[in-house]
Amino acid sequence: MSQTRSHRTANSLEVAISGGSMGGLFAGIALERAGHDVTIYERSTGELRSRGAGIVAQQHVRRFLERHDIVVPEEITTASSERRFLARDGDVRASRPDSMVFTSWDAVYRRLRDAFPDDRYRMGAEVVDVAPETATATIAGGSERVADLVVAAEGGQSSTRRRLFPEVEPKVADYVAWRGVVPESDLATDTVEAFDDRFVFYQGSNLLILAYLIPGADGGTEPGERRLNWVWYDTLADRDRTAIFTDASDTERAFTVPPGRLRDPVRRRQLERAANVLPPVFETVAAETEAPFVQAIYDLAVPEMTVERACLLGDAAFVARPHTAAGTAKAAGDGAELANALEENDSPDAALSSWDETRTEYGSRLVARGKRMGDERLHLATRPS
Ligand SMILES: Cc1cc2nc3c(=O)[nH]c(=O)nc-3n(C[C@H](O)[C@H](O)[C@H](O)COP(=O)(O)OP(=O)(O)OC[C@H]3O[C@@H](n4cnc5c(N)ncnc54)[C@H](O)[C@@H]3O)c2cc1C
Repeated sequence: MSQTRSHRTANSLEVAISGGSMGGLFAGIALERAGHDVTIYERSTGELRSRGAGIVAQQHVRRFLERHDIVVPEEITTASSERRFLARDGDVRASRPDSMVFTSWDAVYRRLRDAFPDDRYRMGAEVVDVAPETATATIAGGSERVADLVVAAEGGQSSTRRRLFPEVEPKVADYVAWRGVVPESDLATDTVEAFDDRFVFYQGSNLLILAYLIPGADGGTEPGERRLNWVWYDTLADRDRTAIFTDASDTERAFTVPPGRLRDPVRRRQLERAANVLPPVFETVAAETEAPFVQAIYDLAVPEMTVERACLLGDAAFVARPHTAAGTAKAAGDGAELANALEENDSPDAALSSWDETRTEYGSRLVARGKRMGDERLHLATRPS
């Protein structure tokens, strides 16, 4: 499937995108709608549609969905009007009015995926090499795609980033995020009421847990159809990281043990800890969650997002800690701004250079903010690097 590069203007480029999750789809849709000829290569062979948990639906994401006529955001979001902080015994320690909008990763992914042409989305296509000087992507199996621009939207473990910036390493924090989603229909009425219309937190010693309601697995946003999403940042002090990240088939994983793959002793130990350190309502929610999972927390930042005719975006370029709740919004911004820069500049090189400058600055600031939030505000530590 070798193709030759056509000589196009900045307004009509051939773009090969490696990675078809949020970052790849945001960029793919924005570029395709701006008149570029875009193909997405996604290495996974299965559906990504039914995976993922909750995300804060930041304004950037909602605006992207609206501006590109993808979905009316209200159709795939839930909302809360109060931020509530619990005491260890479950009493309300403080609360204040605060409007937040939430959604689920799968609800956004499904809409983005449906908005991008099927014949331009290649599944089971792993990009194994990128030559930035010729904008060439090599796909596993040996075929080459020569484009005008290659976009690597390959997530935090991006192999293209490792080849372009081998010195950039994720810096792992000394705490992790235990996470889960539970259908509200599996919870007692008073448990659901504790979270309804609220963003609920508990801050303990070296831990922070929060929860909010998100759309159901089939996208339903009405009471009774939703799921409760929780995230428990917990210290690794006195814990064995390797044991936690060794999954049910005894494989050691670097960054996440996905739903259903935690080993029983690991899960049991965390539930025992929940009973000892969390307010009762959070302990209940953790115990009722069928398939909790765990994710490493890390900071990652590239020095620049473009190398000749290749660029990195989304988590492939910058991973800020989840306290910023900005990973998806950043991916949306990276994609939308790339399309804008190509529109506004006379040449692709000028566009890439201006995009690189603004988005690298934004990504670096976000990573620094996430680190501060984790280390200082939440009193959760970082391993000295
Ligand atoms: C299945 C899934 C579920 C997620 N659920 C949540 C969630 O619930 N909450 C949350 O906050 N964040 C979630 N995330 C992460 C979230 O999508 C990102 O933090 C953020 O939106 C930035 O997305 P990204 O596209 O840059 O990276 P990612 O979402 O990590 O996507 C990277 C994509 O690139 C593909 N890929 C990697 N290397 C190659 C290659 N060489 N060739 C071709 N394809 C490649 C991967 O298969 C993946 O689909 C999830 C990610 C995935 C993949």
